[in-house]
Amino acid sequence: MIEVQDLHKNFGHVEVLRGIDASVAAGEVVVVVGPSGSGKSTFLRCINRLEEVTSGRILIEGQDVRDSRTDINMIRAEVGMVFQQFNLFPHLTALGNVTLGPRKVRGASKAEADDIGRKMLEKVGLGDKIDNYPSQLSGGQQQRVAIARSLALSPKAMLFDEPTSALDPELVGEVLAVMRDLAREGMTMIVVSHEMGFARDVADRVIFMDGGVIVEEGKPSQIFKQPKSARLKDFLRRVI
Ligand code: ADP
Ligand code: MG
Repeated sequence: MIEVQDLHKNFGHVEVLRGIDASVAAGEVVVVVGPSGSGKSTFLRCINRLEEVTSGRILIEGQDVRDSRTDINMIRAEVGMVFQQFNLFPHLTALGNVTLGPRKVRGASKAEADDIGRKMLEKVGLGDKIDNYPSQLSGGQQQRVAIARSLALSPKAMLFDEPTSALDPELVGEVLAVMRDLAREGMTMIVVSHEMGFARDVADRVIFMDGGVIVEEGKPSQIFKQPKSARLKDFLRRVI
């Protein structure tokens, strides 16, 4: 589904990604862990071209995201992204936020978009909050609206960049539960997260990044119980 080949990304003279090779199969859940500044966000942002790649290839179902013929709005619809900050429009209701994409990107009618929007908000457990504005929702509810907003575009894959890091601890669980459901339904997902419990339970594979490279990857049991590299051992000592 997603194929990344020798991805390099520089910011000015600083090489932030130094040759990333990764592939994610349809339905696979990959959790990316690593210290702050290791390039995890940049890696995700390159996949749906929020960042211009310096060199290397990124294919989504065989389609090169850098190809000039590739419609970047289509890539962003088909590879949904959820951020630490929910970035909802404050002047739109939950339903308004979720229906914007289907209307603007997919060209859905208001009735069609409302129908999709209601279904997606129900799916994330917010069927009774469709008319609430973001300011009338908790952080966990806002993040679930943000997930529903991505899902409303029928993505082929979802990227999550520390989706629970901005939440009060008691609200983390409700967002992780929605992500677990998505994973169970077979959504292809790449998740950057410090939630080691989620990684252990839900990930098919864990990737450990440090210094702009993938240092180690494997099944959660391997990564957490039998880390090979000193860098991963050191990281685990600090986070667990
Ligand atoms: P992580 O998500 O693992 O914490 P990031 O991908 O955010 O890491 O950042 C990796 C490195 O790239 C950091 O050193 C960061 O300062 C740098 N960086 C990220 N975005 C930019 C940018 N837009 N301009 C310059 N440097 C950046
Ligand atoms: Mg980050």
